[in-house]
Amino acid sequence: MALDDIDVSDKVLICGGGIGGLALGVALAKVGIPAVVLERGEQLRSAGAGIRLQTNAWHALEQLGVADTLRKEHIRMESLEVLRDNGRYLGGATYRDDEENRGVVRNELIIALAAQLPNGSLYLSSDVQSVKIDERGNGVAVLRNGKELRPKLLVGADGVNSRVTKALGLSSVTYSGQVGIRAIARFKEGIPNFDRVTRGIMGGPNGEFDLLFPLTDKIMYYASVFSLPEVEAKTFNNEKALQYLHSNAKHIAEQFNIPLWLSHIKPEDIYAHQLKDRAPDKDKAWGKGTVTLIGDAAHPTTPFLGQGGAMALEDSVELAAMLNSMTKSEGGWEKASPQAIAEALRAFELKRAPRCHDMVQLARNNGAMMCMKRSWLGVLLRDLFIMVAARLTRVSFYTNWDVKLAA
Ligand SMILES: Cc1cc2nc3c(=O)[nH]c(=O)nc-3n(C[C@H](O)[C@H](O)[C@H](O)COP(=O)(O)OP(=O)(O)OC[C@H]3O[C@@H](n4cnc5c(N)ncnc54)[C@H](O)[C@@H]3O)c2cc1C
Repeated sequence: MALDDIDVSDKVLICGGGIGGLALGVALAKVGIPAVVLERGEQLRSAGAGIRLQTNAWHALEQLGVADTLRKEHIRMESLEVLRDNGRYLGGATYRDDEENRGVVRNELIIALAAQLPNGSLYLSSDVQSVKIDERGNGVAVLRNGKELRPKLLVGADGVNSRVTKALGLSSVTYSGQVGIRAIARFKEGIPNFDRVTRGIMGGPNGEFDLLFPLTDKIMYYASVFSLPEVEAKTFNNEKALQYLHSNAKHIAEQFNIPLWLSHIKPEDIYAHQLKDRAPDKDKAWGKGTVTLIGDAAHPTTPFLGQGGAMALEDSVELAAMLNSMTKSEGGWEKASPQAIAEALRAFELKRAPRCHDMVQLARNNGAMMCMKRSWLGVLLRDLFIMVAARLTRVSFYTNWDVKLAA
C-alpha cells in the first residue's frame, strides 16, 4: 500500500530506518504492536562499512532473532590489544566465554534486521520533512508532499541530526574536535596472517587512533580517528579520507601492515564523519506526550567505546518491552490510552537516561585520552594509565546488559 493511503492512527510511526529504527520495528512486531518505518534513503544502506558489536549488542540481536544469521559469516574475536604506533604493547584482554565481540558488515546488519520486519511495514524514499507536536502532546510527521501523518505513537530514530529531536526542543550536538574514517579492505583469497585480535593503535602528531580487526575471514575493518579543527572537518570528505590514511600510515610501525590494508580498500568502501555527541540529562526524560526518541537521535555519541549502535539496539528492545507490559495491563494495544502510552515512554526514557548519559561521557573521555596529541608528559601518563587500568578492570565492563523482550 502506498504511504499516502495508510492509516497510522493505530500504529507506531518510526522515523528513520537505520539500526535503531529497523530494530524497533522488529521488536514491536515480536510483541504484536503494529508499526511503520519511514526511511528517507531510496534503498537500505548504512554508511560506515563495518561496526563492532559487543556482548550487549549480541544480547539485543538475540532478542530480535538475527544473531545467528549474523554469526554465520562474522568472526568472533578472541582478544583485544592496545598498542603504541611504534608497536609497544600497552594493555588488553582475552575475552571470556560470556563476552561476545564480533565486527559485522553494516549493510548485512541492516539487511538482517529488515528481513525480520512484517511485509509492507518499511517505506523507503520517505523523507519526514518536519515534525510537530500538537497541543495534546501527539506527534505529527509531515511528508515532502505536505501530507500529515498522525500516529498513535511517534518515535524519532532519525540519527544524529534528528528532526524529531529538534521538534522536542533538545539542544543540538557538539563537534568533538575529531574526525572518524571507517573503511573495509576486501581480500578475495582471504586475509593474510589472519588472527582473531582487535588492535587499537595510539600515537601520531594529530592524536591519531587506529583500529583494526577482521569482520569475516575475507574482510578487514580499518578505522582511524584524529583531531581536526571544525572548519577543516566540515570539508573533510570520503575522497580526502583515503589520501589521509596513506599519509597517516607513515608513523605506524611496519608490523601493523597498514599499506597492505590500504591497497585493498575500494573508494566506495570508505566513509568519513565529523564526530559529534550530546549526553542526555541523567535524570530527565527526553520525550513529550506520545513522542520519544531512540538511538543517535536520543544520545548521539563518539565511537570511542564502540557503543552507539549497541545502545540503539538496547533502546529498541527496552522500548518494545516497556510498551508490551503497558499494553498487557491496558487490555491490548487498541485499548491503550495516550496517557498510558506517555507514561510508558517516560518510564523507558528515565530508565535509559543514566546508562546512555554515562556511555556518552565515557566515550568522550576515552576519545580525549586516545586522541591525545604528542606531548611527552601527557602521553607517558596516558600510557601508564592504560597499563594499570587494563590490569585492574575488565575493558568491557559497560557491556553488561541483558533485557528480555517479553517477560
Ligand atoms: C566513526 C564511527 C564509528 C562507529 N563505530 C561503532 C561501533 O563500532 N559500534 C557501535 O555500536 N556503534 C558505532 N558507531 C555508532 C553507530 O554508527 C551509531 O550509533 C548508530 O548508527 C546509530 O543508529 P541509529 O539508527 O540511531 O541512527 P542512524 O544509523 O544514523 O540511522 C538513522 C536513519 O534515519 C534516516 N533518516 C534521517 N532523517 C530522516 C528523515 N527526516 N526521514 C526519514 N528518515 C530519516 C537516515 O537515512 C538513517 O537511515 C560509530 C559511529 C561512527 C561515526
